[in-house]
Amino acid sequence: MDRKEEPLIFEKSSPGRKAFSLPELDIPEEKLEKLISDDLLREELNLPELSEVDIVRHFTNLSRKNFGVDNGFYPLGSCTMKYNPKVNEEIAALPGFTNIHPYQPAEEVQGILALLYNFEQYLCAVFGYDAFTLQPAAGAHGELTALLMIKAFHRDQGVGVRDKIIIPDSSHGTNPASVSMVGYKSVVVKSNGRGNLDVAGLKKVVGDDTAGLMLTNPNTLGLFDEHILEVADIVHKAGGLLYYDGANANATLGICRPADLGFDVAHFNLHKTFSTPHGCGGPGAGPVGVNKKLEPFLPVPRVVKESSGYRLRATGYDKSIGKVHSFHGNINVIVKAYAYLRSLGAEGLKDVAENAVLNANYVMKRLKDHYYLPYDRTCQHEFVISAKWQKEKYGVRALDIAKRLLDYGFHPPTIYFPLIVEEAMMIEPTETESKETLDEFCEAMIKIAKECETDPELVKNAPYTTPVKRLDETKAARESNLRWTPGN
Ligand SMILES: *Cc1c(COP(=O)(O)O)cnc(C)c1O
Repeated sequence: MDRKEEPLIFEKSSPGRKAFSLPELDIPEEKLEKLISDDLLREELNLPELSEVDIVRHFTNLSRKNFGVDNGFYPLGSCTMKYNPKVNEEIAALPGFTNIHPYQPAEEVQGILALLYNFEQYLCAVFGYDAFTLQPAAGAHGELTALLMIKAFHRDQGVGVRDKIIIPDSSHGTNPASVSMVGYKSVVVKSNGRGNLDVAGLKKVVGDDTAGLMLTNPNTLGLFDEHILEVADIVHKAGGLLYYDGANANATLGICRPADLGFDVAHFNLHKTFSTPHGCGGPGAGPVGVNKKLEPFLPVPRVVKESSGYRLRATGYDKSIGKVHSFHGNINVIVKAYAYLRSLGAEGLKDVAENAVLNANYVMKRLKDHYYLPYDRTCQHEFVISAKWQKEKYGVRALDIAKRLLDYGFHPPTIYFPLIVEEAMMIEPTETESKETLDEFCEAMIKIAKECETDPELVKNAPYTTPVKRLDETKAARESNLRWTPGN
């Protein structure tokens, strides 16, 4: 649209209304004209004119139309919407972090370099790796980085063609997508009746064309693979590498380390496990840890500690896959995660894992008589139940139940994922929720199960209390209209 010809109409604007007061202009007008060249001066500016109270109410009301982890329980399985401690925000906003620039010489930014260096050491200690790159900006980006390193490793070995990556059918959708991005092929292995990777199935497909295996453990069913050491052994014996999708490491922090389980490389989402905010595509970070086999392939530059201080070094890493992000990654996300790690300490991390697992098992036990539980095992930080019974008996689907939860004031769980469970509802309470909140959520879920029996139409037409009702979700994703237009 040509904005010059068609001025925007702001329906709340009223000419002359202001939300600020400035002192009288004390520069003579003639001088001003000389200061700013004519082509930069405009006669009229088409901006909304509002008072401060109008603006505050407008934005406050807008924010209340949205659901966030700060206004309610958000049990979105796999995505780990955990509470974001506010002290992390305060620390990341310190002027020493916000007023620096990546082009500054290392001597002037020793503080942030020390933080990056130490954070890498902490991640190594928590997950058992020898080195990390902090560059990747998301989990999927971490997967890509890791697969590029796996590819570089095999190329360096120089024997045969290894172009297959084995992934279980419970994998996160980003796994096969990343496999394709590096030009590899995915080979899918089924999960067995206990939700583990089927070892016999793995043995059938593993071979000298295997580049590696990608695994989430605990997997997206919230179950820890009971044969992980055997699986690692099979893949390693075939010459492949093991990749750990640790997007969501809430259940294992301080309990067990993926490197000790045999995973050569892994990514971790700071915007899940380490409590930094995410959603709406906002900045994230997916650091990748490697063992000695893969360390030579890490992205550059790396932060190193020398006698004169911290430095960024890009030379001397001949096998590096290069850069995967401009500068050093999403630094402010890393600062928040660093603050989170430092404030929890080693014992605190273990508490996170234990409480996350306890909360998930508590909710699972309370719901299992009311919804079908396909894998009745102790779960880790999340679990998957199904609306199968409700669908078969009353024609109510997981989507309907998710929508009805909104009326009870809860964000719905993840639905229809993992794909191997029909009508899946994947619930992750996280560690910070109180028993009262968990009980309120369980009671809402149980009430909805009753509503499905007594008044299925009520559930099928939910929600009733939200600013928008049922959306055409495909259209909303494909033709999203994020711009305000007059009269809408
Ligand atoms: C979230 C998630 C990813 C992808 O992370 P993004 O930051 O969204 O790219 C990958 N694997 C698992 C298991 C996840 O939960």
